[in-house]
Amino acid sequence: MPPRGMNRGFMTEEEKQSTPKVTKELLVRVFSYLKPYWKQMVLVLCAIIVSSFFSLLPSVLTGKIIDEGLINRDLDMLIKLIVMSLLVTFGANMIGVLESYLNTWIAQHITFDMRNQMYRHLQKMSQSFFTSNNQGDIITRMTSDISGVQQVITNTFTSILSNVITLVVAVIAMYQKNWILATMGIIIVPLFTIPTRAAGKTRWSLTRESQACNDEINGILNETLSVSGQLLVKLFGKEDYEYEKYEKANRRMIDLNVKESMAGRWFRVVITTFTSIGPMLIYLVGGILIMRYDSDLSVGDITVLVSLLGRMYGPVNSLLNIQVDWLRSMAMFTRIFDYFDMPVEIENAPDAVTPESATGAVEFEHVCFGYDDSRMILNDVSFSLESGHSIAIVGPSGSGKSTIVNLIPRLYDVNSGCVRFDGTDVRKLDLSFLRSNVGMVSQETYLFNGTIRDNLLYAKSNATQEEIEEACKKANIHDFIVAQEKGYDTEVGNRGLKLSGGEKQRISIARVLLKDPALLVFDEATSALDSISESKIQEAIDPLIDSRTSILIAHRLSTILAADEIIVVKDGQIVERGKHKDLVKAGGVYTELYETQFKAGLENMQPMMDKPPGHDYKLREG
Ligand code: ATP
Repeated sequence: MPPRGMNRGFMTEEEKQSTPKVTKELLVRVFSYLKPYWKQMVLVLCAIIVSSFFSLLPSVLTGKIIDEGLINRDLDMLIKLIVMSLLVTFGANMIGVLESYLNTWIAQHITFDMRNQMYRHLQKMSQSFFTSNNQGDIITRMTSDISGVQQVITNTFTSILSNVITLVVAVIAMYQKNWILATMGIIIVPLFTIPTRAAGKTRWSLTRESQACNDEINGILNETLSVSGQLLVKLFGKEDYEYEKYEKANRRMIDLNVKESMAGRWFRVVITTFTSIGPMLIYLVGGILIMRYDSDLSVGDITVLVSLLGRMYGPVNSLLNIQVDWLRSMAMFTRIFDYFDMPVEIENAPDAVTPESATGAVEFEHVCFGYDDSRMILNDVSFSLESGHSIAIVGPSGSGKSTIVNLIPRLYDVNSGCVRFDGTDVRKLDLSFLRSNVGMVSQETYLFNGTIRDNLLYAKSNATQEEIEEACKKANIHDFIVAQEKGYDTEVGNRGLKLSGGEKQRISIARVLLKDPALLVFDEATSALDSISESKIQEAIDPLIDSRTSILIAHRLSTILAADEIIVVKDGQIVERGKHKDLVKAGGVYTELYETQFKAGLENMQPMMDKPPGHDYKLREG
């Protein structure tokens, strides 16, 4: 896609529309972040006023040095004025140091507040936010945009303040010296606006493009340098393809950066020329006034005026350029506020209840649900699971099995109908109570980078070594762990990828065991495990199913048979339910699944179809 607006010195309609609207509300909101630091802000303001004033004093003193020191040939006065001038410059710089310190301090604290607020907010966002938003974009907002805010505070705000103060003081000082010369010098200033504005627009459009490009680069890095992304790249031999994509985005970025820093360079040539016109005018008119009109202007006065005028160009120039910085900052704030304004879809009801304990009973009543409104995934799903019992959910891929269980801990909320946990609508239960009582072993086991122990402690931070070992023994992973050189302190690698699928799943079973939830949801991996791993997992989950309420999304006959009841889901509806023995003969979806999927696993199993569910059955190894 060719970058928008490149090589143009004007904004397109689209770009004009995407310029943030600086409304009163936006400003009030931005300033609300400064409010807690108002005392420090007042100090900064004072420091800026004093240092701006001090920085102009040497110009005024120069006039005195010329008139009273040099022309009057008064050495004492000359030394006094020089010392004074040096002290003033030193003082202005010292105040500048204080100002920078306070500025940075305030900016860092505001960034700190915003980052924390954003992180908290993002944590509250529903799963659908994370599945539908680009990770690169989320990270950019968390990092670059919020850092940009710091820039705004340290540069934009203070630059506006100090430049305005410098300008006002300089204008007053100039008019006090001589109004004619002051007017002559100042008349040139508006000419600045023409080239600066044009350059500003170009810079603004380039800034927007480089922001989009930055998002794109972050997206590419996040996707291709993640463990799973890299694996995919390697397995499909896409290294060159991905490299080219990255190189292209990277090149676009440098082109944009060069363009951005060069934007308006030609205009600056014009500006520099203007800058030299002002002093010349003052010399000329000053000369005429002294020579022809016998004015009492001194050489020192003219020097002061020229020097003050010279000091004005910088602030005028930056004030004109500030439009872009200002727009850029407002765009950053808008992007950050966009996220803050996204509603937290799933949160505690104001009257949420926290029962004393839970039994894990679940009831679905006429549940309809879609990830987006255009497509319903679950249609009128009703079933109930009594405490202490277990249900196996089976069905073709994509039929909605995982979706059903995701509704129980409120990863998503139903569109209509009701999900009850222990007889209470999950939307009326305290979220942390609900989630602490639902333990999920998901299809894709996620382990954090750290040791096995760290990952286990994530479920219960104060678990003792005995508790950890007991959970691992139940999950059939203890022997494996102690056989490792570092035992429980073995590093699992990035996302646990140093472990096999079966090992990871058993660790995640142990993790759930430590959490000790009332309801256990086991989303069985669809990927094939070898029969030894499979039997180990089976041995781990069998006693769990016996001891607590559980829902098993099953792909293997062994798991299905462990449950008290089987429900068969197809196209988001429950089409059959019952026991294996009956369902297999019914000639429906289950029979078909049995013939095509489950039966294959049978070859590894001893005949045990008639055994009651949950019973011990052995897999023939090898
Ligand atoms: P499998 O056995 O393959 O894991 P499943 O029966 O568990 O499949 P679900 O994961 O519940 O199926 O998915 C049901 C449907 O919902 C699928 O068509 C899928 O494309 C869609 N889906 C799943 N997750 C999302 C999501 N986050 N956003 C949008 N659609 C989704």
